[in-house]
Amino acid sequence: MKRISILGATGSIGQNTIDLIDRATQTYEVVALSGGRNVAQLADDARRLRAEVAVTAHDELLPELRDLLEGSGVEAAAGTTALIEAARRPADWVMSAIVGAAGLAPGLAALQQGATLALANKESMVCAGPLVMATAQAHGGSVLPVDSEHSAVFQALIGEDIASVERVIITASGGAFRDWPEERLAEATPEQAATHPNWDMGQRITIDSASMFNKALEVIETKEFFGIDPEKVEVVVHPESMIHALVGFNDGALMAHVGAPDMRHAIGFALHYPERRPLPVERLDLLKLGSFTFREACERRWPALRLAREVMRTGGLAGAVFNAAKERALDGFIERRIGFTRMAGVVEEVLERVSSQSGLIRAEITLDNVQNADHLARKAADEIMAGS
Ligand code: NAD
Ligand code: MG
Repeated sequence: MKRISILGATGSIGQNTIDLIDRATQTYEVVALSGGRNVAQLADDARRLRAEVAVTAHDELLPELRDLLEGSGVEAAAGTTALIEAARRPADWVMSAIVGAAGLAPGLAALQQGATLALANKESMVCAGPLVMATAQAHGGSVLPVDSEHSAVFQALIGEDIASVERVIITASGGAFRDWPEERLAEATPEQAATHPNWDMGQRITIDSASMFNKALEVIETKEFFGIDPEKVEVVVHPESMIHALVGFNDGALMAHVGAPDMRHAIGFALHYPERRPLPVERLDLLKLGSFTFREACERRWPALRLAREVMRTGGLAGAVFNAAKERALDGFIERRIGFTRMAGVVEEVLERVSSQSGLIRAEITLDNVQNADHLARKAADEIMAGS
């Protein structure tokens, strides 16, 4: 029996993880499931999977969750402290699928009890990559990538010497607006940005795909995860989303990972690692596909990619500032306080302001310092948006 927990169980990645668990319930013992406002879904899954505890992030929803779980034997809990306590319960494998910087502390708690952390929450790596890796190492745990590109890179690197890697190419679908003329981007609405051409994902990551902030986070995630020089990480637009990443070696070989855009592959790979087991994903018919196409990931059209390079050059807590500013700018766009193309401008101004204000960016990467940088960046983003 493998003891597992799923943080962010009610979201897109969480539900895809549960889909795999549901197919082999006898193999798994579910420890903790967490969610947000969707307590009905959370309670339903917790009952069916006989979880030890179900946690909602919202204190005020505790009575409702308790009612829904009445007589099930599943404990109900709520709030940040309860979430961290749940993540700390002994488990072999923990899925980190909360969206945003909020996923960092629970993920670290899971690593502190020695679990294997399946990391969908890329923000953890962007905000605190060295801390995540050091925590895993200190407690005998490990981190496995779940982001499709990083799972692809990880798989291409099995049995290879990282020193022989010349470059890593991660692909981007280009998001909702890849075929829009650049002049129209300023008038794009949140609804338009939240429809993805290939992947079915949560609202926030889908909008981040359209702005390429998702790819910007992933470039930083690649550097942090694999310890690869930023100059070796490339982005290419691949509208079909069938090739997830390619790794180039010093003998000229380029290994591509090809598969249907279905997150259950990367989730299942992390679930069964180091074994490979059959997964319920589409098998590709290459003759039907016919061809793969590629386009340049233009940094003028998608300034988030340029900002990611600056963040990697700065290092330290710049990633935490970048991510927090991006999260607030995204809130601003979703709430229609700023336009689509203004998001990158807000993030850039926050980076400039916070970097010049204090020695904060250079502070050691601890959870406290990351949370402090996150807080300052959000405040700066709000001030900038109020004036823009
Ligand atoms: P989602 O919005 O569908 O789900 C997010 C989950 O986190 C939900 O369970 C929600 O209740 C919970 N949550 C949200 N805010 C929270 C908070 N402040 N505290 C505690 N819980 C909170 O998101 P998603 O698309 O499943 O993405 C989850 C993570 O996985 C993100 O980091 C995303 O970038 C990454 N990811 C997602 C995909 C995908 O296909 N959806 C692919 C690659 C990476
Ligand atoms: Mg990805």
